[in-house]
Amino acid sequence: MPMQAVRPKILGFISEQASAWLVALVVLLTGSALTVIVAWTAADLYQQQVRQRFQLLVNERYTRIQERFEDQEQRLGSLQRFFVNSGDVSRAEFDGFAQPLLLHARAYAWAPRIFREQRSLFEQEISRQRGVPFNIRELNAAGVLASASERDEYVPVLYSQTQSLLGSPLGFDLLAQPLRRSALERAQQSGKLAVSQPMQLVGVEPAYAAGVLLVAPVSKVAGTKPYGFVMAVISMRQLVADGLPRPSRDNLVMQIVDTSDTRQRVLYASSNAVGNSDLTAARRLTLGDHVYALSLRASEVFDKANHSSMHTILAMGVLLSVLLSALLYVLVSQRQRALKLVEQRTVQLRSREQELRGAHGQLRSVLNAATQVAIIATDLRGVVNTFNAGAEQMLGFKAEEVLGHLTLESLHMAAELEARAVTLSLALGKRIPPSQAMLVESPDSQHEAREWTLVREDGSQLTVNMLATVLLDDYGLWVGHLAIYLDVTQQKRAYEALAARDRLLKKLSIHVPGGIFQFTLEPPDNWRFIYASEGMRDIYEIELGVLQQDAGKVLERIHPLDVERVRASIRLSALQLSHWREEYRVQLPQRGLRWIRGEATPEELPGGGTLWHGYVSDISDLKRVEEELRALSITDSLTGIYNRRYFQDRLKGEMLRLNRISGALSLIMLDVDHFKRINDQHGHAVGDAVLQELCRRIGQRLRRTDVFCRLGGEEFAVLCPNTDGTQAYSLATQLWQSLRDTSMEPVGIVTASFGVASWRIDEGIDGLLLRADSAVYVAKQAGRDRVKAEPLRA
Ligand code: GH3
Ligand code: MG
Ligand code: MG
Repeated sequence: MPMQAVRPKILGFISEQASAWLVALVVLLTGSALTVIVAWTAADLYQQQVRQRFQLLVNERYTRIQERFEDQEQRLGSLQRFFVNSGDVSRAEFDGFAQPLLLHARAYAWAPRIFREQRSLFEQEISRQRGVPFNIRELNAAGVLASASERDEYVPVLYSQTQSLLGSPLGFDLLAQPLRRSALERAQQSGKLAVSQPMQLVGVEPAYAAGVLLVAPVSKVAGTKPYGFVMAVISMRQLVADGLPRPSRDNLVMQIVDTSDTRQRVLYASSNAVGNSDLTAARRLTLGDHVYALSLRASEVFDKANHSSMHTILAMGVLLSVLLSALLYVLVSQRQRALKLVEQRTVQLRSREQELRGAHGQLRSVLNAATQVAIIATDLRGVVNTFNAGAEQMLGFKAEEVLGHLTLESLHMAAELEARAVTLSLALGKRIPPSQAMLVESPDSQHEAREWTLVREDGSQLTVNMLATVLLDDYGLWVGHLAIYLDVTQQKRAYEALAARDRLLKKLSIHVPGGIFQFTLEPPDNWRFIYASEGMRDIYEIELGVLQQDAGKVLERIHPLDVERVRASIRLSALQLSHWREEYRVQLPQRGLRWIRGEATPEELPGGGTLWHGYVSDISDLKRVEEELRALSITDSLTGIYNRRYFQDRLKGEMLRLNRISGALSLIMLDVDHFKRINDQHGHAVGDAVLQELCRRIGQRLRRTDVFCRLGGEEFAVLCPNTDGTQAYSLATQLWQSLRDTSMEPVGIVTASFGVASWRIDEGIDGLLLRADSAVYVAKQAGRDRVKAEPLRA
């Protein structure tokens, strides 16, 4: 089934392929559109509600004000009836009745009609009653109350019950003022309540001054002319606004205008501000014979209290849409990212799985290909879980018989494990069970393969080398052991045979004088002893280990005069594959200078080097005998100096040297004078002693380089290398002198005749000898006991 088919949609409806931006945009647009629709619907509803609320407020306010108007009419009506019914009303009666009526009205007053002729009597009578001067007054041009001018009729305020702190304008003539007069006239004519035009009230605080006068005529008999008027002084502000919410809290803005007022003056207007809405209402109020227009508008307070929620809805809606779209964007994009990651990981996992399968297959192939090696792995309990083909071959078990059934311990020889466990427990200071013995390393061994004995399926035993390691998983946790076994039975046999050979060789070499060795020279200059017997240590006084590590130590032992010769001969032997034979000296720390003879036969190595098999032996004793023999052969037995043979050999050698590199050589010859006589006179033995003494004296005088020889009888020669004729003559003279200076008892002075000759270029031995001999002859001839140089060239 393809993966896409089962893929769930995000939130159940968004395709996982959809662009996160697109989803967010669609949600934002949809959300915004819904918000607009909701806001529009809500706005409509809101408008209706606001209008209804406004209408309710308007009705309530209208009813309230109208009731107050009617209440004023009733109160004044009751005062009027009080006057009508009471007849003559005293001030106290008036106050007593009017006092409780004072609600929403500034004042109640009683003003009788006084005609011109009654005025002074009336003023006197009232002045008397009150105890203070009273007269009928009017407002003069300056706006101050002053005595009223002469008129036919006056209606002065006589009683007054007021709330005003200013007191009542007693005596104020209502007819003096046209507006008041008009109201009185209308009341008189109609016999009913009449209201004045809007006016500034007298005797009232300025703030309450705008108002009207509600007047009712009082007649003695119904239908007759009134004899006075009761009136209510109504401040519009007090009537309308008292008891209403304060302007700062009032939802409505009111305005009251008298419809009959041609100037359309505002009788009352609220001080609060008009709101922005277009909500207005108009009602008609009646008071007495007047109709008032009450216009009501919504105030700012109303606007505020009924604030439209449209903006909030819009803002919230848009905000919610933005949030929702952002949320969806994050959700979709994260989901897509997660899906992408899952896909990547799946691909990676698949390839890892493939690799792992490959590696596992390879490992299995390797395990099974290693047929010469047994590879066995166990879990932590020691139960075998890997048993390769090599293990099957080696032990005879089938893998299925072993896997999950047998432990590593059961494949080992029990006795050996137990013994090893005891050793390990002692070494490590803690108990090691036999089942662990093959896996635990002893503190002394360093990860080395150990030899173990395994038991085959048929019960037979085999010796193996075992390497055990701990198996760890990817987290480094111990999951088991891996043991690798190598069958070393054959190898062990071969080792044993080799060891036997080795022992034999050792025994043999101990009994052979000197040392035997195997030596290789590999290019460029690698010297090495492959094998060296014990004897080699005695020959060179070098430990065998050191010798096998560094063959150069042997060269260090060889005498400096011989070492180059030995090197050269070895190289030559390698070059020509010729038998090597060399005698040389070694300087040993303990035994000093010894002579060694070495012999070896070379063979070529496949790699280009040379291998020698040979022996070395100490030939110092032999050399000493040889040396003694040689010394004897060149020494004169009587005198101990060199004999004639040595003289001749040496002379030949010197001549060869001279021919090669040139230089000087002189020869002194001497012959004892009249020796026969000595023999004759003293006997042959004395003659011999004389010869010995002569040799001693001359030998003392000679230089180290001079070679003193007895040529025969009483004839001697001194070979002087690097010495010219003059030097030789001088030496000969010294020798001659040494003889004749001191006598030899019992013979007395013994003399000799000396002849000196020097080598000449291109001259042979014979020539030199002849000339020396001739010189001796000349000396003899000249009378003996003297030195003669060689005769000059002919
Ligand atoms: P000159 O040389 O002075 O002419 O006289 P000479 O007596 O020395 O002459 P000559 O050479 O004839 O004599 C040598 C003698 O030396 C002869 C021989 O008997 C003697 N003589 C040779 N060898 C020995 C020796 O080994 N021992 C002794 N005692 N005498 C020897
Ligand atoms: Mg002689
Ligand atoms: Mg002589």
